[in-house]
Amino acid sequence: MALVRRIVDDKGVDQKPRAIADGAVLDGASLLSAPIRWPSENLLSDTVEFGGRKAQEAAEQLGITNIAALLSHLPRDRREARTVADLVVGEQATVVVEVQSIASRPVRRRGMRPLVEALVSDQTGTLQVTFFNQPWLVKRYPPATRLVLHGTYELRNRFRVSSHAPTTDQLGAGDDVAHYPAAEGLSSTQILAAVRQHLEAARRVPDPLPGRLRARHRLPDIPSALLAGHSGQLEAARQRLAFDELLFVQLDLLRRRSRRAEEVDAPQLAAADADRGLVAGWIDEQLPFELTGDQQRATAVVLGDIARGHPMQRLLMGEVGSGKTVVALAAMLRAVECGYQAALMAPTETLANQHFATLQALMPGQAVPIALLTGSTPAARRRDVLGKLGSGELGIIVGTHALIEDDVQFDRLAVVIVDEQHRFGVRQRTALDSKASGVAGSSAPHVLHMTATPIPRTLALLGYGDLDLTELRELPKGREPIATHLASGERDRARAYERIREELRAGRQAYVVCPLVEESDTLAARAATAEYERLSSEQFADFNVALIHGQMPSAKKAEAMRSFVEGEADVLVATTVIEVGVDVANATVMLIENAERYGLSQLHQLRGRIGRGEHASVCICFGPKESERLTAFATWNDGFKLAEVDLQLRGEGELTGTRQSGLAAFRFAVLPEDAELLERARLSAREILERDPELVLAEHVPLREALERAHGSLLAIPA
Ligand code: ADP
Ligand code: MG
Repeated sequence: MALVRRIVDDKGVDQKPRAIADGAVLDGASLLSAPIRWPSENLLSDTVEFGGRKAQEAAEQLGITNIAALLSHLPRDRREARTVADLVVGEQATVVVEVQSIASRPVRRRGMRPLVEALVSDQTGTLQVTFFNQPWLVKRYPPATRLVLHGTYELRNRFRVSSHAPTTDQLGAGDDVAHYPAAEGLSSTQILAAVRQHLEAARRVPDPLPGRLRARHRLPDIPSALLAGHSGQLEAARQRLAFDELLFVQLDLLRRRSRRAEEVDAPQLAAADADRGLVAGWIDEQLPFELTGDQQRATAVVLGDIARGHPMQRLLMGEVGSGKTVVALAAMLRAVECGYQAALMAPTETLANQHFATLQALMPGQAVPIALLTGSTPAARRRDVLGKLGSGELGIIVGTHALIEDDVQFDRLAVVIVDEQHRFGVRQRTALDSKASGVAGSSAPHVLHMTATPIPRTLALLGYGDLDLTELRELPKGREPIATHLASGERDRARAYERIREELRAGRQAYVVCPLVEESDTLAARAATAEYERLSSEQFADFNVALIHGQMPSAKKAEAMRSFVEGEADVLVATTVIEVGVDVANATVMLIENAERYGLSQLHQLRGRIGRGEHASVCICFGPKESERLTAFATWNDGFKLAEVDLQLRGEGELTGTRQSGLAAFRFAVLPEDAELLERARLSAREILERDPELVLAEHVPLREALERAHGSLLAIPA
C-alpha cells in the first residue's frame, strides 16, 4: 500500500501505518485521538505522495495536489447517481449497479486488447458494459458485486465506462463505506489511507470565510467541515464547501461586472433628440406592428445602457417568437444614428440569411446601408463588403462566424448583437469585441447577447452572473397557442398525416423533423432523406415537398429554405437545422419523429417554428407516451417552465446550451438542489463587495487569498 509520509509518533519513533481493509469505515474522531504529528507541513504546497508515477499522475488528475486538496476530496455522494432508466443517450452519468453476469471474451488475434463484458443492472434497467485490458475484473467483480460506474450511455443500452475520470470502484457491503472518487492507478482505498494519514491536519486548514458570515449562514468552520466529511457526515461538509465554491464564483462574476461598468469605456450612444431621431421615427412610423409591452421595456433598457459611456453586456432572453430582433435593431439603428456601426452575428448561415431578410423587412424605406457576410459570400462580393465596412460606408452588417475572421475590419464598431449566443464558444462570442478597439476613445463595444433558450434563474446566476438580464415573456398579440400531441403507432401516424393534409389543403405549410440525415441500419430513427423520398411519393404526393439538412451544400439549403419561405414548398422535411430562427408564419403543423431523442429545450426550439402567425398550430411528437420529458413538453408551452422542468429532470451540467456557456463544473455544489445555497452565496458576495470592493479589510484577507489561489490572481480577472 502506498503511503504518504512516514508517521512519527510522540516519541519520534516511526510508526508503522496500519493497513486499511477494503471498505473500512473511516472514523474521524478516533483517528484524531491518535497521537499523530507531522513536522512542519505546508498544507497548501506539500504534495501528497502515493508512491509510483502512475498513482501520482492519477492524484494530479483528481486534483489532489496538496494536503489541503486531499482533505477536500470528499467521499462520493450517491445523490449524483442516476438510475438506468434516466440515462440519456450520449450523456455522461454515474450509476450504481449490481453485476448480473461477467465474462471475458476470448482474444482472437494477438495484439487485441483483452475484453471483459458485464451485464449490470439497478431496479430500473440493465446495461452492458465493456472493460478493456483488465481481465482480472472477472474475478474481482463476481455477480452481485455492486459497482459505481462513470461513463457515457450509448445506444442499445451500452455504457462506455470512461477511462479518464474515476472509473470503477468496488462498493463494500454497507452503503456508509467511505467511497472516494478514484482514478485509474489510484484506488478509493489508497485515497482513504492517505486521508486517514493526514486527517489531523484538517485542523490547520485556513478558513476563507469571515466568522460573521459563517455564523449568519450557520455554516461550520472549514476544519470541522473537513473532519465531518471524512467521518460519515458528508452532507454538512459538502454544503460548507459548496457555499465557498458558489461564493467564489459570484465574487468573481460580480467583480468582473463592476470593473467593466466602471473602468472600461465604450461609445456613448445617445440621440441628440430621442423623440425625433432615427430610432423614434422608425418605431413610430415604419414598424409594421406595435411593440409589445416587454419589447418596449427591453428597448428602453437597452437604449439606456448604450447611452452610458461603459459597455453594455446584457443577455436578452426571450421565448421563441417573442420578437427579440426588434429590440436588437433598435440598438443597431441607434449606433448608426450616432455615426457608428453595428454587427449582428448568428450561429448558422440559414439564420444569418433570415436575419438579413427580417431586418430589411422591419425597416422598409430606411436608407441604412446593410450587408450580409457569411462563409458562402462570393469572393468579389466579400471584398466589396469588407471595403465598405472598413471605410464606414456600411452601417449594419449581418453574418456568421465569417464576421470574426482576421481581415474583417470595422471603421467604428459600437454595437454587437450575438444571436443564440450559447451556440458560440466563449472565444467566438468575445471575438467581435476586439474589432471595436480601433474606435477612438473606447475600448469595447456594447454587446447584446440573445437567447431563445430560457435559462432558469439558478443557471443564469452562474453562467451569466456578470451580465445584466432582460426577459421578453410576452408574445406579440394575436398568436394562437400551440397544441402538442404525443403519438405512437400506426393508427396515430395515419391520423397525423391526415391532419397535416387538412392544413395543407387549407393553404398552410408543415414541417416534418427527423433526427438523422441518412438512414442507418443500426439506428431506428427516421432519416430525413428517406422520409423525404417516402412522403413526397406517398402521403404528400399531391403536394410540394422540400428537404433540408445540414449536410447539403449551402446553395441547396438556401434554395430549400427559399421555396418554403415563399410558399412554393408545402412541406419541409428537415433535420434540426431548422431549430433556430426560421420564421415562416404560414407554417402551422410540425411532426417530430423520434422526439425522445431530443432534449426539452431543443424540442421547444423546434416547436417555436410554428405558431408564428394568426392561425392555430399543432405539434405532433412521435415517441414513447410514457416519457416524462415528452409529457412535460406536451403539457407546457412556456419555455421558462420547461427549462425549470428540464433542470429538475436532468441536472445542471446537462442542460442544453449551458454546457458550453463557461459554466464552471462544480465539485461540491449540486444544482438545482443547491439553488437556495446559491442565492445566499450571491447575496453574501454582493454584501462583501459593497462593504469592501477590493477585499482589503482584515477579515477578508483569507478570502482574498483563497480567491487568488483559485483564480491565479485576484487582479488578473479579465474584464
Ligand atoms: P425571436 O425572439 O424568436 O427571435 P423574432 O424577432 O424573429 O423572434 O420575431 C418573430 C416574428 O414576430 C417576426 O416575424 C417579427 O416580425 C414578428 N414580431 C416581432 N414583434 C412583433 C410585434 N410586437 N407584433 C407582431 N409581430 C411581431
Ligand atoms: Mg430570433
